[in-house]
Amino acid sequence: MEFSGFRVIKEALTSHKGWKALWRDPAPQPDYDFVIVGGGGHGLATAYNLAKTYQKSRIAVLEKGWLGSGNIGRNTTIIRSNYLLPGNQPFYELSMKLWERQEQDLNFNSMVSQRGIINLFHTDAQRDAYRRRGNAMHLTGAGGTLLNQSDLRKLVPFLNFDNARFPIKGGLLQQRAGTARHDGVAWGYARAADKLGVDIIQNCEVTGFCIKKGKLLGVETTRGYIGAKKVGVSVAGSSSRIMAKAGIRLPIETHVLQAFVSEGLKPTIPNVITFGAGHFYVSQSDKGGLVFGGDIDGYNSYAQRGNLPVVEEVIESGMALMPMIGRAKLLRSWGGQVDMSMDGSPIIDKTHIDGLYFNGGWCYGGFKAVPAAGITFAHLLATDTPHDTAAAYRFDRFNRGALIDENGAGAQPNLH
Ligand SMILES: Cc1cc2nc3c(=O)[nH]c(=O)nc-3n(C[C@H](O)[C@H](O)[C@H](O)COP(=O)(O)OP(=O)(O)OC[C@H]3O[C@@H](n4cnc5c(N)ncnc54)[C@H](O)[C@@H]3O)c2cc1C
Repeated sequence: MEFSGFRVIKEALTSHKGWKALWRDPAPQPDYDFVIVGGGGHGLATAYNLAKTYQKSRIAVLEKGWLGSGNIGRNTTIIRSNYLLPGNQPFYELSMKLWERQEQDLNFNSMVSQRGIINLFHTDAQRDAYRRRGNAMHLTGAGGTLLNQSDLRKLVPFLNFDNARFPIKGGLLQQRAGTARHDGVAWGYARAADKLGVDIIQNCEVTGFCIKKGKLLGVETTRGYIGAKKVGVSVAGSSSRIMAKAGIRLPIETHVLQAFVSEGLKPTIPNVITFGAGHFYVSQSDKGGLVFGGDIDGYNSYAQRGNLPVVEEVIESGMALMPMIGRAKLLRSWGGQVDMSMDGSPIIDKTHIDGLYFNGGWCYGGFKAVPAAGITFAHLLATDTPHDTAAAYRFDRFNRGALIDENGAGAQPNLH
């Protein structure tokens, strides 16, 4: 079933009886060529690309809960490619380019909105760092504009420009950045993958791996044993728990990241804004809610709910940046599990076990990476060689000391 304006009108005139389920609900087969563990954005995009770009078949995605129950349905929907380092910038720019045509590729309205992101700076040193970042962005075509205070006063007049502690001096704007409807992204990939024959199997938790003489033969699941030639693990915040079942210890810590949404308001915030003097970022959803968040909860946890000190810190930062937020009522808050790597950058690589591949360590920024992670992880699974733009995301960088530390925070996962 293709989506189109014509289809919407036709269904409206026939009591919406013609819509079909977006994907099948197949029983697991005894074995597959490719098994992807995790039905989040990354797992679904990988399965889609295996089938579409690399023309592979006999592919299954195994999801322990329902599709979209993980971080893909919990994030704050920001997409951007405003990175500095050569290991990161081309990868995220590839992702941005894929976002720009994603709705056409998938024939699904995932509400990609290039409303721009502004990273505010509050000191001269910060301005120099953003100028450097902006120049790096221009090298890959990501684009970027340095705004001064008077530009910002016109664009986002509600900010607290004259706060004596955190005066806003300007910001780095990436106009091509923005937001996309997160669960729409999962549904779009699921529908497109299913159409290409991928079996999406929900309520199917992987509980172990069958490995003989260093070779992976299949996975144990709550729905029985499933044989597989190759298994790609894409389970975000559950990475260290799953990989431990294969005897692999990852350079990853898991933390909770919380997010918040206010009651619906009239259009107020035209783009995504990040505070440069505290942990706070905000955008406005198409329903009108202010969607905002801040830092991770500082302790390790696999919970999907956070703690009150972070709530206090995020709200305080919001008040410092834009005091008008104090007039809005908070509607909801929630948490997700984020897999924080030691240098803040992800891992897409083969493991030492023949047939077992890993994609994770996305910290709090893996939503924007979904299209590029999908294609690069599928490339690795299909060809056994790393994709050019993901070649830096290998395990051995931690042995070689070749870290990709965008924040310069050192081996401190909770600070990235
Ligand atoms: C509050 C919050 C805000 C965020 N905001 C942003 C943002 O604005 N921009 C951005 O780029 N990123 C953001 N992120 C990060 C982003 O959401 C994640 O990096 C990304 O979604 C992770 O990839 P995924 O979609 O595949 O993960 P998930 O959706 O978590 O997928 C992993 C899946 O694996 C499944 N699974 C786990 N264990 C098993 C098992 N044993 N067997 C089978 N399945 C299993 C889980 O149920 C889950 O569905 C945010 C995260 C959070 C929590």
